[in-house]
Amino acid sequence: MPIRKLSDQLASQIAAGEVIERPASVVKELVENAIDAGATSIQITIQDGGKRLIQIADDGHGMAAESVQTAFLRHATSKITHVDDLNHIGTLGFRGEALAAIAAVSRTTVVTRAEDAAAGTQLVLEGGHVQSETAIGAPTGTLISVENLFFNTPARLKFLKSSSAEKRHIDEIISRYALAYPHIRFRLTHEKKVSLQTRGTGDRADVLLAIYGGDIAREMLPLGPQHEQGEIGVSGFASPPSLHRSNRSQITLFVNGRWVKDTRLTYAIVQAYHTLLPVGRYPLAVIFVTLPAEQVDVNVHPAKTEVRFRQAGAVFGAVQRAVRDTVTTHAPVRPFQQLTPQQWSGSTSRQQSAFQFERNPQPFEWDDEREVQPIDETATLGGDKLPIMRVVGQIGASYIITEGPEGMFLIDQHAAHERILYEQFMAQQANGSIASQSLVAGEPIQLAPDQATLLEAHSERLTRFGFRIEPFGPNQFMVRALPAVVAKRSSADVLADVLADLALEKSPLEDELEARLVRRVCKTAAVKAGQSLSKPEIEALVHQLEACEQPQTCPHGRPTFIHLSVAQLANEFGRT
Ligand code: ADP
Ligand code: MG
Repeated sequence: MPIRKLSDQLASQIAAGEVIERPASVVKELVENAIDAGATSIQITIQDGGKRLIQIADDGHGMAAESVQTAFLRHATSKITHVDDLNHIGTLGFRGEALAAIAAVSRTTVVTRAEDAAAGTQLVLEGGHVQSETAIGAPTGTLISVENLFFNTPARLKFLKSSSAEKRHIDEIISRYALAYPHIRFRLTHEKKVSLQTRGTGDRADVLLAIYGGDIAREMLPLGPQHEQGEIGVSGFASPPSLHRSNRSQITLFVNGRWVKDTRLTYAIVQAYHTLLPVGRYPLAVIFVTLPAEQVDVNVHPAKTEVRFRQAGAVFGAVQRAVRDTVTTHAPVRPFQQLTPQQWSGSTSRQQSAFQFERNPQPFEWDDEREVQPIDETATLGGDKLPIMRVVGQIGASYIITEGPEGMFLIDQHAAHERILYEQFMAQQANGSIASQSLVAGEPIQLAPDQATLLEAHSERLTRFGFRIEPFGPNQFMVRALPAVVAKRSSADVLADVLADLALEKSPLEDELEARLVRRVCKTAAVKAGQSLSKPEIEALVHQLEACEQPQTCPHGRPTFIHLSVAQLANEFGRT
């Protein structure tokens, strides 16, 4: 093929792809523009998860009639003029790409009036082409409506998720920006239902309450502004060690008022909880970092969600110290012992002495990202049932020691119980009879808007698994019943964990979702490490484990026990 210059239309669509990935990206760009325009109130209305309509109204300074069309040209901006300006960006926007990108892949209508203008202007564009421009009466500010997103880019359209999934991304964006800009009143409406509203009091604690509800908001620990580390300021909220989630999705970062994704900073926060959280659990945190604009490069990606720090180490350290100080002073807790389980292989390697159970926690390990793969339940492991065992006792309120015909077994009580519950649950499911237990009074829960959306989207599935949850107000629900295996736990805890798992979109397959849900329910219900058990309880647990089809791992693939054969013991004691 000969080399040709792409048509303007195609070039715009390609460029749009980098900025606008889904409805939530449109929302993000338009909200950022409203904030840059000095709005004190931002109202967002969406339909069909933003696929049919996204409408954002602000009371900012508006645009002058003569510059409205210019605003929609690629690389047109009022925010920078010179290359040096890139060194100290003080606005959220600066690339002049968003409006052009949005207009290129939708039908866009803007109504705007500048403060001193006699009348407003209405501009309609379709696929980037201007359809009409008219003078119109309008209040000061800007109203942008984006309809039929991706109508002319079918490839993108195909990748959009369900309305509720897309709405969840939007909920998340608005919740985060509401937290970063507590002086601005935000209101998000989906299909005429208000899913988030803040009052603009300027108090972040108010916004926290609106987003997370009372239970979580009350527990979150504020990081004092006293944590100024030279030029680096760190503020926000972090959860106490008693509050945690199964993934990092509740860790939110802002740098100079911009929501960013940064693996290193997220890691710094998780690391601040080192030894305070159970293995595989993550804190909730909303962290605002401020530093001189020239210390941070925001011009990394068209979506502006990544930044580079001139002194990354200093920022990393400041965040970690601020979080660690707050968490340890406000919530002194007994650290969890991190034991390193050894894979059961029937033979422990010579070099690794079988008795080093209690290793010191590893400092700074980057492979904290590693996730244990769930084992394939269909694979035959062959002859792996446990022998009948005699209980010797419990150590560290976490492990059970037993003796079998082939030596000694050290059982992780939590992992073992998880396995037991999992097999019971699967058996119930196979019979089509998952036991559900009603809560006498019902338990009211308040969820964040994105969590509420998720719950509604999965309500049928949750019902099938023994949950009974009724809507009870905006983002409020009444839990009437829980799966019998978890009924002793607080509904809010159980649901928070289950929803965090459902929110991971990695594998949308129905079977995998359900398996994940069951694994989560079992994990939540299982006895914890650190819980003392009575002799009869230990015996019941061991006998149930003996009865399991696949006793050697928990449903997440971690070992449930370590076996030390008579021969190994003899070897360790130098008897051979
Ligand atoms: P950028 O935000 O990077 O400048 P955009 O394409 O998002 O680029 O917007 C282009 C320009 O349009 C902005 O620089 C601003 O002058 C104007 N503009 C966009 N949205 C608004 C708004 N809500 N209120 C006032 N002006 C706006
Ligand atoms: Mg912008």
